Order: sequence, then structure tokens, then C-alpha cells
Amino acid sequence: MRLVLLGPPGAGKGTQAGVISERLGVPHISTGDMFRRAIKEGTELGRQAEKYLQSGGLVPDAVTIGLVQERLSQPDCRQGFLLDGFPRTVAQAEALDAWLAGRKEKLDAVIDIEVPREELLERLTGRRVCRQCGATYHLQYNPPAEAGKCDVCGGELVQRADDTAATVSKRLDVYREQTAPLIAYYRQRGRLKEIDGSQDIAAVTRAIGTALGRDWQ
Ligand SMILES: [Zn+2]
Repeated sequence: MRLVLLGPPGAGKGTQAGVISERLGVPHISTGDMFRRAIKEGTELGRQAEKYLQSGGLVPDAVTIGLVQERLSQPDCRQGFLLDGFPRTVAQAEALDAWLAGRKEKLDAVIDIEVPREELLERLTGRRVCRQCGATYHLQYNPPAEAGKCDVCGGELVQRADDTAATVSKRLDVYREQTAPLIAYYRQRGRLKEIDGSQDIAAVTRAIGTALGRDWQ
């Protein structure tokens, strides 16, 4: 199966990506991980991506598309893949469709994990990290035994700058703005599978299975 996974920060996309990839036996292809690897291995595209990232800019579509095509051409993607972090724009989605069509292939579905904004804010701003060992907690879903103190090492629990209400709110706005045209693109083509991500992890997995015509109990 050839799939794209969409979802805002805090929707549990990473967790579900691992499960879907395992159940379908297809590689989970995260463009974030791919960029880091290409840069580390010093490939031509990696060097180009690094140039843009170092100057604080966005990597142009042509570079990103090149990296993704290079990855999707690997033998482990023959039976399918789960794309995460790509496409981010309609231009990228069109390039992906055109490239797949050239190989007589197509996307089977686009899974969109949706969670109400209020709940995302609650999930993301409740995170706390141990200053000493990096262990993570959540004020509501995974609280430490003693408030403000790490269960593992006794270190002080702090909120990362990324997790404050103002920053989270801004990240969610940026995500919505960027993703809305992409969601419309896939909805128009009848490929969008909207999943209620406010359920517990197992229920979200079952819903994804059902959307893909599988019985994932
Ligand atoms: Zn700790």
C-alpha cells in the first residue's frame, strides 16, 4: 500500500506511523529523518538541502522531491510505503502523483489524523521534560509521582520553550495554513481518509485499519 500520513503536531502521528508501517510491512519514510541522513552521508541532494537549512531557509520543492524520489526508488518501497512529512504543498503532491503515474503506480490513501485544537493545545502545553536526564512527562496523561520532580533521577521538570501556549498556538496555525490546500487537494481526488485522533491510541489504530479496509483488532 502506498500511503501518506497527515496530522498536526500532538495528534499522535509518530506513534501511529510506527504501528501502520509494522502492520502493513512497508517502510515508514519520514522526510525529516531522510534529510538528516542524506546530510550525514553527504549525498549530492543532502549537500543541497544542508545549504538551505544552514542559511535558515526552507528547502526548495525540487530538492525535497528529488530526495523523496530517490528514497521511493529503493527496493524496500516496491510493495508500498508510508510517507510522513511529505508532501507539504500542493506542488509537492502533484509532483508525487506525476512521478508515481510514470511508474504506473498511485497513492492508495491519505490518512489525516485530526484532533480538535483545544485538545492539541492541552496535549502539547502539558509536556514537561527533566532538565537532567531528558525523561518526558505530561501533567495530565503521564504525571510524575511528585509534582515538578523526575521519577527517574529526581531532577527538575521544566517546560521547553517550544511547548508554551503561545508557541504551540503559532505552530498549530502555521500547520493549518500550510496543510489546508493539501487536504483539499486529496479530498477532491477522493483519497482522503479522515481519522478521529482524539480517541485512545488503540482506537485510532483500529479506525485507520478500517479506513484501509483492514481489520486491526
Ligand atoms: Zn530525570
